[in-house]
Amino acid sequence: MSNVTVCVRFRPLSHKERKANGDNVCFRKLDSESFVFKDEREEDVIFSFDKVFYEDAQQSDVYDFLAVPIVSDAINGINGTIITYGQTGAGKTYSMEGPSILHCNEQKTGLVQRVVDELFVCLRSSAGTWTVKLSMVEIYLEKVRDLLDLSKDNLQIKESKTQGIYISGATEISIANSSDALENLSQGIANRAVGETQMNLASSRSHCLYIFSVQHGSTSDERVKAGKIILVDLAGSEKVEKTGAEGRVLDEAKTINKSLSALGNVINALTTGKQNHVPFRDSKLTRILQDALGGNSRAALLCCCSPSPSNAPESLSTLRFGTRTKLI
Ligand code: ADP
Ligand code: MG
Repeated sequence: MSNVTVCVRFRPLSHKERKANGDNVCFRKLDSESFVFKDEREEDVIFSFDKVFYEDAQQSDVYDFLAVPIVSDAINGINGTIITYGQTGAGKTYSMEGPSILHCNEQKTGLVQRVVDELFVCLRSSAGTWTVKLSMVEIYLEKVRDLLDLSKDNLQIKESKTQGIYISGATEISIANSSDALENLSQGIANRAVGETQMNLASSRSHCLYIFSVQHGSTSDERVKAGKIILVDLAGSEKVEKTGAEGRVLDEAKTINKSLSALGNVINALTTGKQNHVPFRDSKLTRILQDALGGNSRAALLCCCSPSPSNAPESLSTLRFGTRTKLI
């Protein structure tokens, strides 16, 4: 991986948090890259990242900083990944989809739709031919489910010389423009909710992947460049209570924990140059992301945090994850 950008986003306090703790927050802003975090024992820890988005940050600020370079690279055949990490309720899905992918005003539009919009703007203004395909999958308990066709509930990950790593049999829909994309994305999101209701699952316990495959042929030399952009809304990173958790809840917690640490280990191995020991095979998530993270690629990690002192332990754990992935 040539580049990983690690950012933090503190969402605004919720009504519930405000009721419990007033306006108190668990951090003090230093500048746009660093803050002082007060941990449970009220000890101060300074954290620095490539960028910190505070409560008043707009969706466009987040997009401009971490997604714009990824989109412009994708049409030149460079793979990109944008990942949201954090405990349930920290703002991962809001950052990706906005309050609702279909019904939200322009200001609140999330990363996914902004990426799509910009992708088509770039492609239209370029000479040459192109195609964009969308797949959407969910990983739950290490099973990959097709969100564009719920009958495919156990997709296998394969590798070929021509395609690299791919999800065998995953539905790929050709997308001609933004509204086309939006329609299919919202269908995938709706399917996700249907599947969850059927199986009585919480969406916060699975990883959701939006996969855009871009083929871009230049007219001058007839070479086709293929780039992938994968956006990942991760399962909640919160720890479950050690006592009391059993059955499915415990299985979920163990698999989520395993795939999140695999992700951390992979990014860390890539950024520290330990290229021959990258543990891509340790989870389905890292296996699917192998091409998008390894080789000539760009990645951005958005660590989402609640600003409330009541969530300080989970926020601290999220910030430590972010720090670990970029430690050189
Ligand atoms: P997660 O996906 O991490 O579980 P959500 O994105 O669903 O969390 O956010 C939890 C709640 O907080 C939602 O009601 C969401 O609308 C709200 N929220 C999250 N981030 C923001 C933000 N930046 N601005 C306003 N509301 C937000
Ligand atoms: Mg969510």
